[in-house]
Amino acid sequence: MSDRDKFDDIEEIDDGEITDGQDANREEEEHDGYEDICFICHRPQSKAGKMIRIPNDICICSDCMQKTFDTMNHAGFPIGDMGNFGNMPNISMINLSDLQNMGGMPKSQKLKKKKTKEEKKAKPELDIKSIPAPHKIKASLDEYVVGQEHAKKVMSVAVYNHYKRVTCDDLDEIEIEKSNMLMLGPTGSGKTYMVKTLAKLLDVPLAIADATSLTEAGYIGDDIESVVSKLLAAADNDVERAEHGIIFIDEIDKIAKKKTTNQRDVSGESVQQGMLKLLEGAEIEVPVGANSKNAMVPLATVNTKNILFICGGAFPDLDEIIKERLNKQSAMGFHADLKDKYDGEENILQRVEVEDIRKYGMIPEFLGRLPVIFALDALTEDMLVRILTEPKSAIIKQYQKLLAMDEVKLEFEEEALHAIARKAKEKDVGARALRAIIEAFMLDIMYEIPKDDSIGMVTITEDYIDNHGAPLISMRGCPVLPGAAGA
Ligand code: ADP
Repeated sequence: MSDRDKFDDIEEIDDGEITDGQDANREEEEHDGYEDICFICHRPQSKAGKMIRIPNDICICSDCMQKTFDTMNHAGFPIGDMGNFGNMPNISMINLSDLQNMGGMPKSQKLKKKKTKEEKKAKPELDIKSIPAPHKIKASLDEYVVGQEHAKKVMSVAVYNHYKRVTCDDLDEIEIEKSNMLMLGPTGSGKTYMVKTLAKLLDVPLAIADATSLTEAGYIGDDIESVVSKLLAAADNDVERAEHGIIFIDEIDKIAKKKTTNQRDVSGESVQQGMLKLLEGAEIEVPVGANSKNAMVPLATVNTKNILFICGGAFPDLDEIIKERLNKQSAMGFHADLKDKYDGEENILQRVEVEDIRKYGMIPEFLGRLPVIFALDALTEDMLVRILTEPKSAIIKQYQKLLAMDEVKLEFEEEALHAIARKAKEKDVGARALRAIIEAFMLDIMYEIPKDDSIGMVTITEDYIDNHGAPLISMRGCPVLPGAAGA
């Protein structure tokens, strides 16, 4: 009997051994479109070919199985009782016995099957006709994001073009360039929020990573490629969905080139260098269901060509570089301006040019791969008031809904809203401060009001916000009185 024959025998015996439960499992997995992964070499079924399933839901590809037999033959082990895998010395070397209770590979480490060409034709992932036009994308963003008109417009167009590029597979000479974006804006101005909203609206997977945690491969910290692994997880291990997703890399200004470098710059310029091929489009091998590559996790190949990269950063002190350039320009010629002309300008970031960011420490190759550059406005007091009240799930609306469940109406005087916005602005962390401020003074209200069934309405006043008085309380069917809640 040749090895091959023995091996065929095993398949049959193995098939015979599968219990009803395992059969049901296999059918279920085939239905949900996930493919098996070889327990030894970690290749998915689409690459490794037919899998042999052995008890405990473990799959081994034919190549690895064959290699195991070859090794056993060389070592002179008699291959007698083929049905009893648990007793094979060589198989116990790969710790099969340890895995008796594992119940096979967890779903988080399985890969979703790639669709065949016919399946793809039947239901396109992103249909060019169904990508909303830029004005529609912006209108949807408007429901959530206050102000930032320019940023919303630029983003809508860039996203629209990006997905048009993804769906257009014409092989003519005109190749549409990728519209990766670089977003500048002070902290708390809504950078992450805009990207999150966009991904939700487009129903594409989103991975958010922090550039500060990334280091050149091999150093302590996350590998640059780990961002793709995050995206794959966000796409439920569906490689195709991940390949159309969005990766947002925050705090990108923190990987600017260091001004004085005697040592190797593993978390700055090298990270920018390392990101180049990701931004451009490359086949990246990423671990499935884990952060780092090791012998125990399967690998998947993800192509980043159609992944939209958005980088965001606050770029502190970039305004100085912009001002310097503007001053230099305006100091020449007949119309020379005063030196401090731009000092009071709040949204100086809007005048940014690639040259300024390069001076800041981003390398030209990196910037070349982020062709869409735009800045968000710093939030003004009026914008903060609107953020409190206008978006679909504005904080004030949330509290009103909570109190409405107790049949109590909650009102805010216009002046009170401005007082909250002023307090938030003092903290200098943009809209992020709003929630903390409101939560602090709403605590007493949320505690006291449900105590008394006769309260029908609460009005928050400016004095209450400034700690000079109490909110106005009105009883059901009675005129408004200065109340005791929180006083
Ligand atoms: P950053 O610019 O630092 O990434 P975030 O996007 O995290 O800021 O913003 C913090 C929070 O502030 C968001 O979760 C969002 O609720 C709110 N926010 C910020 N800007 C806006 C805006 N323009 N419209 C509505 N909400 C906003």
